[in-house]
Amino acid sequence: MKVANLHEIGNLQYEEKPMPVVKDDEVLVKIKCCGVCGSDIPRVFTKGTYHFPTVIGHEFSGIVVKDKKEELTGKRVAVFPLLPCFECEPCKFQNYAACNNYDYYGSRRDGGMAEYIAVKRWNLVELPENVSFLEGAMCEPISVARHAALKLNIKKGDNVLISGAGPIGILTGRWLKLFGAKDIYFFDIDSRKIDFIKENSFKAYSENMKYDCVIEGTGHSKAIEQCLDAVKPYGKIVFLGNPSGDIMLSQNSYWHILRKELTVLGSWNSSYNEVQNDWKESLLALSEGYIKAKDLVTHKFPLSEVCRAFCMMNNRNDFYNKVMICTDEEEIKNEK
Ligand SMILES: [Zn+2]
Ligand SMILES: [Zn+2]
Repeated sequence: MKVANLHEIGNLQYEEKPMPVVKDDEVLVKIKCCGVCGSDIPRVFTKGTYHFPTVIGHEFSGIVVKDKKEELTGKRVAVFPLLPCFECEPCKFQNYAACNNYDYYGSRRDGGMAEYIAVKRWNLVELPENVSFLEGAMCEPISVARHAALKLNIKKGDNVLISGAGPIGILTGRWLKLFGAKDIYFFDIDSRKIDFIKENSFKAYSENMKYDCVIEGTGHSKAIEQCLDAVKPYGKIVFLGNPSGDIMLSQNSYWHILRKELTVLGSWNSSYNEVQNDWKESLLALSEGYIKAKDLVTHKFPLSEVCRAFCMMNNRNDFYNKVMICTDEEEIKNEK
């Protein structure tokens, strides 16, 4: 089968690999779509993975083509990419994202930029009939966005500032609107992204305004300082952005937390358990039309052009939002 294999930092290859061996607790999935996550860019170009080579990609959907038990064959699925240990303290409470010893499709083990993958039954989420493979591949960012949006416990009429206007920021904004936020404002250093959010009925950040709630989605020190400055006294701020290095705060910025008595919250990954299941809720919202996602896909590439997709994103010459690798080339033409 064909895969996108990361051999070392900066060396992503489109190449042949043997078909995966399917264990008893797994099924064979033929992959249809796999989104490129913001975290895949440093993974390929600067930070690498936990071991080489690794087939990258953790935002994918497909169809079950082989199941020894024959229960799931033919099912259309998305995949929760985290494989918990099921033994540590957080796992005992089904807090799988906090697992002390987890595995992960697309970073710690082979992932979804491939024609096929063997997936644990536990990680499969069935797609409702009217949810496309493209939307299914966006279930991961939609779930991460929902998880962060819920943290704010938004009050009707609150206005929200979101720092970072990529797919997760926009999806978080859409969830917050659904939860009752009044206006959503965006800050981003890329003016093309601000133009894009304006087309999405969101507003641009204004220096003269203060905000009830803030979502920080970039993980950059300067943006964090700006968020701490922009939030109203007694406001809430959710940290969602993965930092690319150490975070430095000026004394004044730190004082904002104290003097404004801010509520500071963190958000990590998504919930996938019996109490809170961001994945099931995301698919329901997609199916019922409360949340839209496919309009965020600005680029589709076939798997054979995966290296071109990553170069396009890394050099930032072109505007992009969600970039999708369509392993099944039929999905490139598919409007859904
Ligand atoms: Zn991701
Ligand atoms: Zn665990």
